[in-house]
Amino acid sequence: MISIEAVTKRYDDGTIAVDRLSLEIPDGSITVLVGPSGCGKTTTLRMINRMIEPTEGRILLDGDDLRQRPVNALRRSMGYVIQNAGLFQHRSVADNIATVPRMLGWDRKRARARAVELMERVGLDPALAKRYPYQLSGGQQQRVGVARALAADPPVLLMDEPFSAVDPVVRKGLQEELLRLQAELGKTIVFVTHDIDEAIKLGDRIAVLRTGGRLAQFAPPGELLSA
Ligand code: ADP
Ligand code: ADP
Repeated sequence: MISIEAVTKRYDDGTIAVDRLSLEIPDGSITVLVGPSGCGKTTTLRMINRMIEPTEGRILLDGDDLRQRPVNALRRSMGYVIQNAGLFQHRSVADNIATVPRMLGWDRKRARARAVELMERVGLDPALAKRYPYQLSGGQQQRVGVARALAADPPVLLMDEPFSAVDPVVRKGLQEELLRLQAELGKTIVFVTHDIDEAIKLGDRIAVLRTGGRLAQFAPPGELLSA
């Protein structure tokens, strides 16, 4: 369980990106943060893995303040997926996926086997393992991004507009794959999008944010009031 308790983020220039946000994110759920550009979605995600710190309020993970946890261990427990996948262009697909296992000291063979297993899991032909990211389609790159985030089996996945840059048909396939993967793996997923249809399709619970970083609604998709 991730508990965001009355969190405000004010950047150095005075911008209030997130304004007294409180959210409970249950284990094994997909919680979607949705809202227009600039409403504080990315800022919220980055506070969850401590890339940035709240100005006020606190975030708890399984009851402990995030600040009590060593930041490296915290980040290892949270896979991160971004738009355009953020892959290392000079590393092969398998090496991209194996990044975190290798950092954790897994030997080459074990990391390679894990990469192949994950490629199958996210619907990528393992024959692509030696290719470089630029040799893949946008949808395939996003699958590599998801596989990389899953490599060390983190309980939490943070996903920042991961499917926004791919065409609508591919996006639909990726959304369905994510739901299937979630049914198998039961991760705690915090998913950011500006697309309300995507939010409704994926979310167990949807947090609707407004410009200025205020929470407008937090409800299961069937209980959302039309904004
Ligand atoms: P979203 O992900 O919903 O598009 P962001 O969290 O990226 O929103 O940004 C929220 C607000 O904070 C925006 O007004 C943005 O311009 C501002 N912002 C983001 N990062 C910084 C920063 N490093 N310094 C100042 N303002 C920032
Ligand atoms: P760079 O050093 O090139 O900026 P990053 O440190 O951002 O690269 O790491 C690239 C990818 O590996 C990111 O997706 C990030 O989430 C992941 N990553 C980096 N460090 C860790 C870590 N300690 N635990 C888990 N994932 C990590």
